[in-house]
Amino acid sequence: MKFFFDYERGELTETVHPAFRSIQLFNSVYHRWLDDFASMTDLPTSLRSSLAEEWNIKLPPIHRRFDSVDGTRRYLIRLQDGEMAEAVFIPEENRNTVCISSQIGCALACTFCMTGQLGLVRHLTAGEIVTQAMITQRDNLSWEQRDSFNIVMMGMGEPLHNYDNVMKALRILHDEHGLNMSMSRITLSTAGLLPAIDRLAGEPLIPNLAISLTGATNEKRNELMPINRKYPIEQLIDSVRRFPLKHRQRVTFEYVLLKGVTDSVDDAHHLARVLEGLRAKVNLIPLNEADELGYSRPSDSVVERFQQILIDHHISAFIRKNRGNDISAACGQLKKKWADVPLAG
Ligand code: SAH
Repeated sequence: MKFFFDYERGELTETVHPAFRSIQLFNSVYHRWLDDFASMTDLPTSLRSSLAEEWNIKLPPIHRRFDSVDGTRRYLIRLQDGEMAEAVFIPEENRNTVCISSQIGCALACTFCMTGQLGLVRHLTAGEIVTQAMITQRDNLSWEQRDSFNIVMMGMGEPLHNYDNVMKALRILHDEHGLNMSMSRITLSTAGLLPAIDRLAGEPLIPNLAISLTGATNEKRNELMPINRKYPIEQLIDSVRRFPLKHRQRVTFEYVLLKGVTDSVDDAHHLARVLEGLRAKVNLIPLNEADELGYSRPSDSVVERFQQILIDHHISAFIRKNRGNDISAACGQLKKKWADVPLAG
C-alpha cells in the first residue's frame, strides 16, 4: 500500500485522473479529516474502491502519550516498521507549538543531546513527518482552533541531513489543499549542516531558520558539536549572512547553557562578537539535565547574567522556558524513553 501522506498533490495526478480528483482527495484528507474512501461521496464509487486497494490514508496510531503538569504532551507515534516517531505539543497563551522529528535518532552526536546518543536509526519519510503535525493538531485543537499552531522542526534528528524528505514535507504542509501553512509558521532548526543551508536558501519555499550554536568559538564548538570540525563557525555565520530574509525577519540562534562550559562572561562576549551585524535573535536554553549527560545546568543568576551581556550588546536574547521536563519532552531529551512501558489501564 502507498502511504498517502508521502505524496505531493502533483505526484497524485500520475495515478489519479483527471487532475481535479487530486484536489478533491487532498481536501478530503487534509481539510475534511476523512480517513476512509467510502465516506468520500464526491468521488465515483468505482474510483473509491480502486483507491482503497492502493492507498493507505490512515494516520499512524499514537503508541503512547505523556502529559506534563505544564500541559505539554509528548507523543510516540508507531510507524509501519514498528519504529517510533516522537512529537511534542506545547500549549502557550497566544499560540501553540508543535515540535516534530525529522529522523529517528541522529547522526551528529552533539555531546549534550540525548538523541545524539542513539546514533542515526533511520530517516523519516515526508509522510511520517507531515502526519506528526496532523496527529498532534487533531489531538489538541478543536476544528475552530485548527490553524492556531506553529511547527518547529526541533524534535529528533537533523532536518537538513534528511533534506529531500523534509523539503517534500514542507511542500505538503504548505499546499493550499494540504495543511495550507504559511512558511512563516514553520521553523527549521539545524546544527549547522552547511552546504544544505545554502541549498535551502535557493528553494522556492523557505521556512524560518534556527541555528543551534551552543559554543561561540571553534574550540568550544568542536568539542560539543562534532559537525563543527567539518563546517567551522566562520563558514556557518557566512552562510547565515547569505540567507535570504524577509522584512523584519530574523535568524534564531539557539544556545544551550552548560555550567562551566558555555555560560561564562567571556562566552557571552564571544557570542555577541560572532553575531555582530546579523539580523539575529538568541534563545538561551539552560541545559535540560539527564544522568547520561556529563553536564549540569547553570543557576538562574548565571543565565540572567549571560542574557544581560547580550542585551548590553543590543542583541535580542530570550531565556527559553523549560517545558515538559517531567515527561522527557524538553529540548535534547527525546530518546524513545518509556516506549516499551505498556499503556496504563
Ligand atoms: N538537529 C537540529 C534539530 C534538533 S533541535 C538542531 O540541532 O538544531 C534540538 C535543540 O535542542 C537544539 O537547539 C539543541 O541545541 C537543543 N538541545 C539539545 N540537547 C539539549 C539539552 N540537553 N538541553 C537543552 N537543550 C538541548
